[in-house]
Amino acid sequence: MSIIHLHNKSFEPYLPEALIQEKVKELALQLDQDYADKRPLFVAILNGSFMFAADLFKYLTIEAEICFIKLASYKGTKSTGKVITAIGLDAEIHDRHVIILEDIIDTGKTMHEFLPQLINQQPLSLKVAILLHKPEATEYNVPIDYCCFSIPNKFVLGYGLDYDGYGRNIKEIYQIIEEK
Ligand code: 5GP
Ligand code: MG
Repeated sequence: MSIIHLHNKSFEPYLPEALIQEKVKELALQLDQDYADKRPLFVAILNGSFMFAADLFKYLTIEAEICFIKLASYKGTKSTGKVITAIGLDAEIHDRHVIILEDIIDTGKTMHEFLPQLINQQPLSLKVAILLHKPEATEYNVPIDYCCFSIPNKFVLGYGLDYDGYGRNIKEIYQIIEEK
């Protein structure tokens, strides 16, 4: 692993592949325990979480379902600010144990606006599992039930996360080198 350059930015190795896999495996073990006999439904948020979701799902041994959604944000018709809706949520959430899979919580705004929509559909339970959390950046009070890594407030890429569309296929997580 060495420094990579994407567009006009440079990134250095931050979380190695083996450590990511170890943490994702640990999370799967925990979920195996917490959701044994509950037949949970995982709802993975595209694009960023696709790799995390795929690895986690492979490590799970309990009976579970997974579906994938995209969040679209647009301005409300009134001055209500940004409205976030789910595209592709065809699964029945009602009366299911639901676990949201998200790549990263930064400010928390996305989750803060999206979670009430799922709660409206009255799942039996609703938990949030994320790969990365930037506590210093988080402004909204979002419940985070499972988290693999707490990281500093610096831009990262790799393992599904992109910089302007690129870098998702990198197996490790890289951190931006801030210009001095
Ligand atoms: P939030 O609504 O919590 O501020 O932002 C969540 C979204 O912002 C994430 O799902 C992700 O798409 C994007 N994001 C936040 N921080 C980073 C980062 O460090 N790297 C990348 N690639 N995306 C990020
Ligand atoms: Mg995302």
